[in-house]
Amino acid sequence: MEKQAIKIGHVETKSVMTKSNAPLGGFSVNPYVGCPHACKYCYASFMKRFTGHTEDWGTFMDVKHWPAIANPRKYAGQKVIIGTVTDGYNPLEEQFGKTRLLLEQLKDSGADILICTKSDLVLRDIDLLMEINRKNRLTVSWSVNTLDEAFKDDMDAAVSIERRLAAMKRVYDAGIRTVCFISPVFPGLTDIEAIFERAKDQCDLVWLENLNLRGGFKKTIMDYIAEKHPDLVPLYDEIYNKKIRAYFEALEKQAEEMARKNSCRFVDNETPYERVPKGHPTIVDYFYHEEVRGTANSGKRNVR
Ligand code: SF4
Repeated sequence: MEKQAIKIGHVETKSVMTKSNAPLGGFSVNPYVGCPHACKYCYASFMKRFTGHTEDWGTFMDVKHWPAIANPRKYAGQKVIIGTVTDGYNPLEEQFGKTRLLLEQLKDSGADILICTKSDLVLRDIDLLMEINRKNRLTVSWSVNTLDEAFKDDMDAAVSIERRLAAMKRVYDAGIRTVCFISPVFPGLTDIEAIFERAKDQCDLVWLENLNLRGGFKKTIMDYIAEKHPDLVPLYDEIYNKKIRAYFEALEKQAEEMARKNSCRFVDNETPYERVPKGHPTIVDYFYHEEVRGTANSGKRNVR
């Protein structure tokens, strides 16, 4: 994907910590508004509505400025997810260092910190991450939904898949819990078994999440499939227009079988916290999770 010029702004905010509606509950923390990774399927693009931005998603970014987190210990034991509607390690983090600042502020909090990224800039902070890992629960997750760099380039402006996997290995080897987040799974394009094979020796968890198409980007993705993969149009029509779930139900069975063959735990919508023997990551099924789980904060627990 062509790298776009990014319009940079600055916003003052009273607190960077926001109660989360995500399935994992806890707090969402986003040191930036907007995301230069510009993923075509980014559900966070809805943010534009709330922030007054009219530019295309991926072409603007606001740097947040917040007062030092008062009493970080109040987050002890709480989930703190960094990067739910931005990537805290987007390339401009190199210049602004807000994610690093945030980690410095949380390093003695005792929070259960999860960093979600598509970057290897996280390696800049490996010493800090190791320090945090000694005192808190820490997990770093990389989104990897393909091994095909050309497809990746069509979808996002983040670093290559190879660089993500190399970063995952270094962080894993440093003793930090890592996740290979196979998301979003593109029907007919994402090969979950190939990705699993590539990542299984360097992650503790493999998360599986289906591609959701809603809002403005549904048309973008459907047009892309029609142009680049016309043979897949009937499948996408079945899933995203007719709402038939057979594809993902079959994939769920395939994932469960892959777990069995590799002696991995297979769980539905949980994030067990443990390091696992190398080569046997816990596989977590998040397909259609928004209907299944509710959120820990809302207390709703829907049952499929
Ligand atoms: S990295 Fe995440 S937040 Fe950034 S554009 Fe991609 S999906 Fe959206």
